[in-house]
Amino acid sequence: MNLIVQKFGGTSVQSEETRKMAFRHIKRATESGYKVVVVVSAIGRLGDPYATDTLLELIGAKETKLSSREEDVLLSVGETISCAVFTNMLKEAGINSVGFSGGQAGIFTTSEHLNAKILEVDPKRILAAFDQVDVVVVAGFQGVDEQGDITTLGRGGSDTSAAALGVALQADFVDIFTDVDGMMTADPRIVEHARSLPRVSYAEVSNMAYQGAKVIHPRAVEIAMTAKIPMRIRSTYLDGEGTLVTSLSNEESHFDIKERLVTGIAHVTNLTQINVRVESTDKQQEAFNLLAEHGISLDFISIGTKNIAFTVPEEKMKQTVALLEDQGFSVFVTEHCAKVSIVGAGITGVPGVTAKIVSALAARGIQILQSADSHTTIWVLISEEDLIQAVNALHDTFCLEID
Ligand code: ADP
Ligand code: MG
Repeated sequence: MNLIVQKFGGTSVQSEETRKMAFRHIKRATESGYKVVVVVSAIGRLGDPYATDTLLELIGAKETKLSSREEDVLLSVGETISCAVFTNMLKEAGINSVGFSGGQAGIFTTSEHLNAKILEVDPKRILAAFDQVDVVVVAGFQGVDEQGDITTLGRGGSDTSAAALGVALQADFVDIFTDVDGMMTADPRIVEHARSLPRVSYAEVSNMAYQGAKVIHPRAVEIAMTAKIPMRIRSTYLDGEGTLVTSLSNEESHFDIKERLVTGIAHVTNLTQINVRVESTDKQQEAFNLLAEHGISLDFISIGTKNIAFTVPEEKMKQTVALLEDQGFSVFVTEHCAKVSIVGAGITGVPGVTAKIVSALAARGIQILQSADSHTTIWVLISEEDLIQAVNALHDTFCLEID
């Protein structure tokens, strides 16, 4: 059986017009002889009646009195509605189809409500359905735990649903349809000249995604990679090929790495940099243990002889500062920071990359607050005010020559 998974994200399902665009891709796949599993996100964004963020507002968002189990019952509704709407559209158009919730589709998860992990996908009900129909529509972002309670998978969860179904069904492709034409060299909302990358490896895409390129969830890429299911990131509105994600063969990867020093520039905003004065190794230990005990995860950690520096997400700033100051530490805070990542497997061992970064930013008067690097990524922390300029400058420096 030739089978393809097609996932449609929030903007792709939001109106009748965009759903018609999605429909073209489904119809084309069935006409090419594929059985299709369609995975849908909730309809629209905050303000739209059934979007996940709107549902959260109904119960007072963070101040809700609901347990996370009860909250999941509500949160799953967005995708459930979307599933029904899609199935109805397909049936109206004469396409044999059936709609399933995540649980009905066999998606079994842990019981960590609001952020459950997929444990197993039992595809037997989907496979049985394909004896009768050409398209199975599955509500994304949701599953069911051991007790039969509905769970949700956290942000980007529909990407994960699609990848897990693709692996369980040994799909020919998992297609992630969205509002941009693939994984691009930078967020096109920030860099006008960003371009779509025709072929990238699982490792490059998951790295870009971890560093903030939110077009796909990194977990989804890792799941697809375990079974080497090819993924495509594509535009719902265009007919382009988008980005093909595979584990490039050795020959090709050699070629790509040689040609491509940098895959792209990704960024994360809403960070706070915290500098703590610590003048002994005992004090260092005390500070790190204190934050670990309170479950505060740190990024960009740098340890010096007189101080330590790290970043936390903005919403963790108050708690972090209070914990440290209560123990007598002297703390210096820089708010509104952004982390910019220069991602590329080709970076390793190439001299002069850091010099290029520093020059590109210095030429525009942008101060680097902190930096770090690994064999695939160089990170710089800057003020959020400088974000657009910095990402564009680095994109000009490294990505313009990419084809
Ligand atoms: P969906 O609702 O379809 O899941 P998302 O909003 O989650 O869509 O992801 C698509 C968005 O990701 C794009 O509109 C784009 O602004 C953003 N994005 C950030 N970085 C990148 C990148 N490197 N390439 C493509 N898109 C990116
Ligand atoms: Mg998304």
